[in-house]
Parts: sequence; structure tokens; C-alpha cells
Amino acid sequence: MDGKGDIIDQGNEAAEIFRKSALSQRKPDGPEATGHCLNCDAHLAPKQRWCDVHCRDDYEKQQRAAAMAPREPDPE
Ligand SMILES: [Zn+2]
Repeated sequence: MDGKGDIIDQGNEAAEIFRKSALSQRKPDGPEATGHCLNCDAHLAPKQRWCDVHCRDDYEKQQRAAAMAPREPDPE
């Protein structure tokens, strides 16, 4: 009876684990430090990507919204 619920829960858990690991391991194709805030474009020290945790959160929200949008599947 609860089979569908289990599948959905596992999917959410996997997505959460993936998101956390993506944040902790800086992948080469992730956002690069430009010396400017990726959220508000303020001038920052080299290798910094955001002013503070709030800008980072805003940026991540935008990324998440973009990830929800339909897009073409990655070619294998
Ligand atoms: Zn900022």
C-alpha cells in the first residue's frame, strides 16, 4: 500500500544527498570565483563567490529554481 510513498521518499533523500555533496565538493563545473558576488555582483576578495551566507542562499535558490525548469537531458 505504501510502495509509492517509499519511492518518493527515497527520491527526495537521494536528491538531498546529491545536493549536499555537490555543495561540499567544489566541482570544476560549479560556479567559479570571479572576485564578484555571484548573487549581487558586489566586489569581493579573490576566490570569494558571495558576500555572505544570505547572498549564497539567494544564489542557491535561483539555481534550484533553474534546476526545476524543464531542460534537455545531458547527452551520454
Ligand atoms: Zn552579494
